[in-house]
Parts: sequence; structure tokens; C-alpha cells
Amino acid sequence: MTSSTRHTVLLIAPVLDSLLEKLSNSFEVFRLYEQAEPLAWLNQHGSAVRAVVTRGDVGVSNAVLEHLPDVGLIAIFGVGTDGVDLNYTRQHNIAVTITSGVLTNDVADMALGLILSGARNLVAGDKFVRQGQWITQAPPLGTQVSNKRIGIVGMGNIGRAIAKRAAAFDMAVSYFSRSAKPALPYVCRDNLISLAQESDFLVVAASGGEETRGLIDDSVLAAMPKHAWLINIARGSLVDEKALITALQNRSIAGAALDVFEDEPQVPAELIALENVVLQPHVGSATHETRQKMRDVVYANVDAFFKQQTLPNAI
Ligand code: NAP
Repeated sequence: MTSSTRHTVLLIAPVLDSLLEKLSNSFEVFRLYEQAEPLAWLNQHGSAVRAVVTRGDVGVSNAVLEHLPDVGLIAIFGVGTDGVDLNYTRQHNIAVTITSGVLTNDVADMALGLILSGARNLVAGDKFVRQGQWITQAPPLGTQVSNKRIGIVGMGNIGRAIAKRAAAFDMAVSYFSRSAKPALPYVCRDNLISLAQESDFLVVAASGGEETRGLIDDSVLAAMPKHAWLINIARGSLVDEKALITALQNRSIAGAALDVFEDEPQVPAELIALENVVLQPHVGSATHETRQKMRDVVYANVDAFFKQQTLPNAI
């Protein structure tokens, strides 16, 4: 196919360089985020776009989609669909694909890493050694993780992978999800307050979006034991950040370990000022191995779409 007849793909946000390269080798790729006047670009070129590629944390707005009358695919680099209006895509017959099956283990590893970092003072301990405090002081004690109670909010792919890892730490696993999973060997709680009351580590692993916005609110935080930690590897929108900051400042919970934030990459100064938090820049799936697999999954779905084949990772 010559460049003038190559299919047109619109990239909404920066992705892995090697994905851009791979897509550009086969398709005409435009980067909306680099257009000085995105609206003018959409008005002029939107009708040529057949596929959109975006990241899970960015999605694509209906305002953009309205300028793409012939778009048939939104390929998400990630598994979160909260940045895409699925009612709109259904109504307009736009397929949506995600990078399912390749990032679950990394995000679950990160959840366990955050639990250990927080409870066992890994970040603080590193600072303690580097700043030479070890020479003159005894290091602070941490909190045991093994044999403790973990409460998982959202028992999906990542929730299950976290549970499996927690079980290897001899933790008692309970969960709260949209639906009970009777086949799983974990205790299901039908309300979040009960789960919070009985968790030493409350881990948020549910989908983002309007349905779950602010699910972890002041009442859930108030129900958590004083010694408990909140871990969030899902989406910032699930946690009422103001209520969390108050709980951390008042020490009504022991700490929080967070990979995601309400308005990332902006992180509230109040959180940064607190010592009882561990902060990560949304890197749950950010390993070389997984990002390459995510690249290949996105490419395979775009390629299948243009070849009119079954989409391997349609939701
Ligand atoms: P998944 O398999 O679709 O699981 C989502 C889970 O959320 C399901 O168990 C679902 O419950 C539960 N859920 C949805 N709405 C709920 C509600 N109102 N109350 C309670 N639970 C609810 O997705 P996944 O692969 O595990 O990923 C989970 C989320 O992690 C993604 O949506 C994404 O936002 C986030 N994520 C973050 C990173 C990172 O880098 N930090 C990377 C990947 C994904 P049911 O099973 O009962 O329907």
C-alpha cells in the first residue's frame, strides 16, 4: 500500500516509541497531542481516521470522537476503559480493545511491593542508610506483613493475582467486588465498610470510572483500623484524595502507598509532605517485558481491524 492509500490511525497521547514506530511502518499515523490546533486538525482530517490508539489513563473524549465519523476502533494501551464512554462506542459501532492478559502480574507485583515498601519502611530505610543516620541511630521498626489480613477491593484479574501473592505471604484474604466469586477460596464481603474494618492492608484493584468514583471515601477510611495501610494500584478516581490526606494527617490510618492519583501527574503537596506515604508515578505495568507485550497486543488489534479479522482483545 502506498503512503497515500495507507490507513489512517490517530494517536491521542504519547505511547511507547517502539509502538509508534511499528504503527508508522504500516499505517499513516497522526499525533493529535502534537497538533498546535487539535480542533482545526480534527475538522480538516478527522474524516480520514479509521482507528484511534490511546492510553488507558487518557482515553479519548466524545468531543474528539464526534470529529471522526468513520472511526471503527479504539485500541487502548492498557486495560482501564474509564477514559472511554462505552455507551457512546456501542451506539456508534466503535470496537474497543485493551491489552488484556499481559500486565496483570506486573501490577500485582507492584501492589505487593507497595505493601512491603510501606509497612517495612523500605523507602525510609534507604534514605536512612544514604543519609548516614545508621552510624548514630537505630533504624525504626516496621510492621509485619506475613500472616496479616488483606482486603481487596475489586476481585478482577489484578485482584486475583494480588490475592495469590498475598496467600504466599500466609495472609488472610477477603474481598469486596461487584459480584461474589464463589469459586475462589477467599472470603467475600458484601459491603466495603466490613471489609475495611477487618483489613490490615486495604488494596484498591477495581475499575475506575463514574460508578466507582470516590468509592474509598471518609466512611471507608474511618472504618479502617488505626494500624492499617491503604494501597491503590487501580485509579486515583476511586479514592477521595482529600479524605485520605485528612486520615493520614490525623493518623487515623497508618499510611498509604499509591501508584495512582486523582489528577496525575499532579500529586497534592499535602501527600508529598507526609512521611507515612509511599508514592509511585503510575508504573504498575511499567516493565520492559510487559510494555513490549502491550505494544504487540495494540498492534495486533489495529492490524486485525484493518484486515477485517476478529479483534483478539475486544472488550
Ligand atoms: P478487571 O479484570 O476488569 O477487574 C475489575 C474489577 O473491578 C472486577 O472484579 C469488578 O467486579 C470490580 N468492580 C467494578 N466495579 C466495581 C464496583 N462498583 N464495586 C466493586 N468492584 C467493582 O480489571 P483488572 O485487569 O483487574 O484491572 C483493574 C483496574 O486496574 C483497571 O480498570 C485499571 O484502571 C487499573 N490498572 C492500573 C494499572 C497501573 O499501572 N497502576 C495497570 C493496569 C490496570 P466484578 O468482577 O464483580 O464485575
